[in-house]
Amino acid sequence: MAKDVMEYRKDFPLLMNDTSAYIDNAATSQRPQCVLDAELKFYMEQNANPLRGSYPLGVAATEVYEDSRKVVKEFINASSTKEIIFTRNTSESINVVAYSYALDNVKEGDEILVSIMEHHSNLLPWQMVADRTGARLKFIECDRDDASVDLNKVEELITERTKIVAITQVSNVLGRENPVRAIADLAHAKGAVILVDGAQSTPHMAVDVQALDADFFVFSGHKLMGPMGIGVLYGKKKLLKNMQPFLRGGEMIDSVQRESAKFAELPHKFEAGTVNAAGAAGLAAAIKYIQSIGFEYMQERELMLTTRAMEGIKKIPHVKVFGSDKPEEHTGIVTFAVDDVHPHDVSEILASDGVDCRAGHHCAQPLLQYLGVNSTTRASFMFYNTEDEVDRFLKSLATIRERMGYGN
Ligand code: PLP
Repeated sequence: MAKDVMEYRKDFPLLMNDTSAYIDNAATSQRPQCVLDAELKFYMEQNANPLRGSYPLGVAATEVYEDSRKVVKEFINASSTKEIIFTRNTSESINVVAYSYALDNVKEGDEILVSIMEHHSNLLPWQMVADRTGARLKFIECDRDDASVDLNKVEELITERTKIVAITQVSNVLGRENPVRAIADLAHAKGAVILVDGAQSTPHMAVDVQALDADFFVFSGHKLMGPMGIGVLYGKKKLLKNMQPFLRGGEMIDSVQRESAKFAELPHKFEAGTVNAAGAAGLAAAIKYIQSIGFEYMQERELMLTTRAMEGIKKIPHVKVFGSDKPEEHTGIVTFAVDDVHPHDVSEILASDGVDCRAGHHCAQPLLQYLGVNSTTRASFMFYNTEDEVDRFLKSLATIRERMGYGN
């Protein structure tokens, strides 16, 4: 049975030590003690270079690393651990697909379809592929008011020339979940593959890559309470098998001759050099922590916090929330603007009142241009945030215009 949130907060050393209200969870979440312990345990008790030594410590290190892969496989319901590749983060995972799949499968005249709401990490690699191959980059736009994507328009945009559709499951600015399964079906009907960016979905909802029929699925450990520097690339085995490795060296080989090399089997073919085994152990601990709480409880809390924030903002004149007016369509993300006040001033005033929020373009400049703004402020909640933190945020927000010299 789920505990009271104050009990869960005790699992997070930083939340216990820091008095500010941390509501920048979409940038990175906080880590529970069990994640820190798993990393420390690796270095204190299991440290050797994984996948190499046959002495007991080397075997233990390999076991920790490969057991973590099994935990990730179950977490996203991949059909095999061969489909789980550890990377540094979402950005690196997308780059692997861009360099190792796209450059070999996209040619001049082909099309790559992304959405207007992509994080730069799911845009710049495709710009590179388009530049190098002569392919055309096309954009799925969303509704400016409620952030929804019109599947009829997506269907029109996907043509026989489309080779890749790359789309986020949840926007890091608007928080709305995209209908990625339906988009996968449309992509597959035209012979294209789909990459789903799960950076903002995996911390908040159960993901089943087989149910989504994603060809590639990517996410970062640090956004779901795991360590920084560990990420995941899931790919369907039949695709990964035919791809060339992105990085070369270390244990990603089967055999090496003077002028050629035979690569290792999946997934090691894509994991060059010494791997982040402590990070993988921490990620597995984070996933087990999430599983011990359950997404149901986390979602219930995140919806309550989002609703409280959005209802509160409605009562503050001159503050506009971007995206849907339904809190359940925000995945804990509330991006807003205060009339006449620059978002950096908004976040500085909030910070002076002990509220940690992010201001800027949120690495989604094309989306902000599309919405007609240069920057915004974003509050993003995790289940461990409290009603009191939302109220502190609202109380501070309500004073901002006055403190900047504007009347209400
Ligand atoms: N994609 C989305 C939707 C994100 O929100 C982020 C990070 O904010 C990224 C990709 C990049 O993640 P990372 O910095 O962990 O590579």
